[in-house]
Amino acid sequence: MCHRSNVLTEALEILERYHGSINPEEFIAYYAVMREMHPFGVLVSIILTQNTSDKNALNALMNLIKSLGPRLTPQDFLKISDSELEELIKPSGMYRVKVRAIRELLKLVTKDPDILTKEDPEKLRKLLLSVKGVGPKTADVFLLMVRGYPTFPIDTHIRRILYRLGIVDKSEDYESMRSKVMELIPKDKYLRAHLLLITHGRKICMARKPRCNECPIKHLCQKVGIR
Ligand code: SF4
Repeated sequence: MCHRSNVLTEALEILERYHGSINPEEFIAYYAVMREMHPFGVLVSIILTQNTSDKNALNALMNLIKSLGPRLTPQDFLKISDSELEELIKPSGMYRVKVRAIRELLKLVTKDPDILTKEDPEKLRKLLLSVKGVGPKTADVFLLMVRGYPTFPIDTHIRRILYRLGIVDKSEDYESMRSKVMELIPKDKYLRAHLLLITHGRKICMARKPRCNECPIKHLCQKVGIR
């Protein structure tokens, strides 16, 4: 545990210096929070990123903003039909599944308008996970970015880097990885660590042909040169 902790802590310190400032536009949820979008709009933004690139999700989000306004409140979504919503979010892919999830979430916030902002975070996490089409990463990104709740969302880039650094196993499940990382780094670093690892996964440690020669954490990595 001590060794792993050192590896992740050291990697994050190096990545902080290497990647420098983070552009919010490269992170949909972060971007939505910075634009002071309604919490429901932020949640929809996170759903748009599921199983697609942030670029496609951003195109879908821009369609929504153009059509419904900048805040994306629950009321905005009540004004349009499923087929209109499908058309707007089509660029993000899997749009039928996403529309279904958005409609389910809309039912929750219509019943209790404060649920996203006031519900106990652990209860809210369970509630969000009970909605078909909402996975743990979506729930955790929302809780971390909107509620400031100390949880660590694991996405595909983070999973890959943690594996290559020898911090998690290939077959490890989401909850196990999440709790492992949460034990290894201080709570106030969760958001920054999340953004830095994703940035590294997009720019250097890609799934195929990672740029190991340029990687500033290669001395910590167990898979240098992987293809
Ligand atoms: S050395 Fe290569 S595989 Fe290891 S973290 Fe860096 S880019 Fe990824």
